[in-house]
Amino acid sequence: MNDPLPQGAVIGILGGGQLGRMLSVAASRLGLRSHVYEPAAHPPAAHVADRLTTAPYDDADALRAFAESVDVITYEFENIPTAALDLLESLRPIRPNRRALAISQERIAEKDFLTGLGLTTAPYAAVTTMADLHQAIARIGTPAILKTCRLGYDGKGQARLRSPEDAEAALAAMGGADAVLEGFVNFSHEVSVIAARGLDGSVSCYDPGENVHRDGILHTTTLPARLTNAQRTDAVLLAARILNALDYVGVMGVELFVTPQGLLVNEIAPRVHNSGHWTQNGCAVDQFEQHIRAVAGWPLGDGARFADVVMENLIGDDVLRVPEIARERNAALHLYGKAEARPGRKMGHVNRIVPTKA
Ligand code: AMP
Repeated sequence: MNDPLPQGAVIGILGGGQLGRMLSVAASRLGLRSHVYEPAAHPPAAHVADRLTTAPYDDADALRAFAESVDVITYEFENIPTAALDLLESLRPIRPNRRALAISQERIAEKDFLTGLGLTTAPYAAVTTMADLHQAIARIGTPAILKTCRLGYDGKGQARLRSPEDAEAALAAMGGADAVLEGFVNFSHEVSVIAARGLDGSVSCYDPGENVHRDGILHTTTLPARLTNAQRTDAVLLAARILNALDYVGVMGVELFVTPQGLLVNEIAPRVHNSGHWTQNGCAVDQFEQHIRAVAGWPLGDGARFADVVMENLIGDDVLRVPEIARERNAALHLYGKAEARPGRKMGHVNRIVPTKA
């Protein structure tokens, strides 16, 4: 099972969004094929995948047929229903593994895991009831952020507490879901490390990028990030520690807060990550190829950065600027083929590169 997959082997990808699309492109560049499983019609990955299954995650027959048609299964998002994973895992290897998924799906499990490794996170406490929340505020203080434990992304399912008086409204915003109160971290900026681990246990991390969000959605990632040499080393070492502890195979995004006291881990994503899109034009082997290499049991590629890069997400109507961007020098466009530019929808991104001097 641990031999590298041969040419023509099939990578099964759960999720057909832009990440699934770019993973499919990377697979085909390596002479591999991809089979994408996606409930929604006309997903971005459909244009490039070798095969597409359109079926919901509770369709056991479709899941079984999908698994039997592929050599290994990976995914582009972490909220895959457990029953679907149980069925798929009985038929083919899932990489990255279930533990990585389980931990990243649940904020408290994630923070317990990270702090258990000796890494630092924001102070946190589990909250279900108003009494929990009052206790948590007494321990952590305000300002703080209440977040749902599950299914939160891009700043959704979150409520800020400026003072203890905001408690009631914040808890109401969770809609009855289990939540976690996090102390507000006074960070100077946010960075992320895109890290990869191969089936042979080798680890390769990309240079950390600096992220700027707008309206809760990633706006830009800039390389190099503002970090001291010591912080850059810390970032890479802590990412490697996370991957090793999980016996991880594939690419992971590790989001970090930079504070005067050091680096705090915000969250981990067991998949290729939006803040790693810069690698497409800044490295010989980008995060998508690296992930496919890892899950296919190939050696990891060279992720050294050869250019300064600013990645800008094209969200909603930003896509109207494509004709101008297409005329810019040193700007590499990556568009996802989505028909409708709804507000907040990721339509594409542009990597603007400045070659570094040798
Ligand atoms: P998350 O969904 O946890 O990644 O949070 C989305 C964004 O909210 C982060 O990228 C931060 O900008 C901000 N944020 C999240 N948690 C905290 C925190 N504990 N302290 C300060 N800002 C935070």
